[in-house]
Amino acid sequence: VVEMSGLNKWYGEHHALRDVSLGLAAGEKIVLCGPSGSGKSTLIRCINGLEAFHEGDLIVCGTRLDGTQDSLTAVRRKAGMVFQNFNLFPHLTVLENLTLGAVYARGEPQDRAIERAHGLLARVQLTSQTLKFPGQLSGGQRQRVAIARALMLEPEVMLFDEPTSALDPEMVHEVLDVMEELAVSGQAMIVVTHEMGFARSVADLVVFMDQGEIVEAARPEIFFDAPATARAKAFVGQIS
Ligand code: ATP
Ligand code: MG
Repeated sequence: VVEMSGLNKWYGEHHALRDVSLGLAAGEKIVLCGPSGSGKSTLIRCINGLEAFHEGDLIVCGTRLDGTQDSLTAVRRKAGMVFQNFNLFPHLTVLENLTLGAVYARGEPQDRAIERAHGLLARVQLTSQTLKFPGQLSGGQRQRVAIARALMLEPEVMLFDEPTSALDPEMVHEVLDVMEELAVSGQAMIVVTHEMGFARSVADLVVFMDQGEIVEAARPEIFFDAPATARAKAFVGQIS
């Protein structure tokens, strides 16, 4: 679903991604972690075409990201993205937040989009909130709307960038539960998170980045219990 090799990106002088190579197979789950500024968001935004890169190859859902608008459009239709801060449309209801893209970008008939939206809102346990506006919801509810909205794409891969880090602690688990259910259902995903419990139970692979490069990639039980590198060891020590 994602094939990346030799990716390099600079912000001016700052070398933000250094020769990053990573592959995600259908149904696979990767948890991406690392210290602040290590390039996690940059990497995940490159995969969705939200950031351009300078060197390397990146194929997402069968489309090579070659800088053309066509490639960006194709990838964004197949890769669902969930951000830290929800990014919902504040002036639209929950239901409209879900159906807007499907109706206008995909040209789906409105009644079909509404039917699918109801199904997904039930899946994230928000059936009773469909006509509210984002401002009337809790953070955990908003994030579940954002997940349902991304699922409207029927994405081949879901990309999450610290989906629970802006939430009050008591709301973290309701979002992680939804993500875990998605994972169990076979959804391929790349998740930037420091939630170790989630990583342990869901990840096929934990990828640890530092200073723009992948330092270590291992199964969670190996990464957390016996990290191979000093940098990973120090990081695991801090977050556990
Ligand atoms: P965090 O855990 O804090 O979210 P991160 O691993 O997601 O960190 P990135 O946001 O990918 O890190 O940033 C990687 C580096 O690139 C940082 O040093 C950051 O300052 C720099 N950077 C990110 N975005 C930009 C930008 N738009 N312009 C210039 N530098 C940037
Ligand atoms: Mg980040």
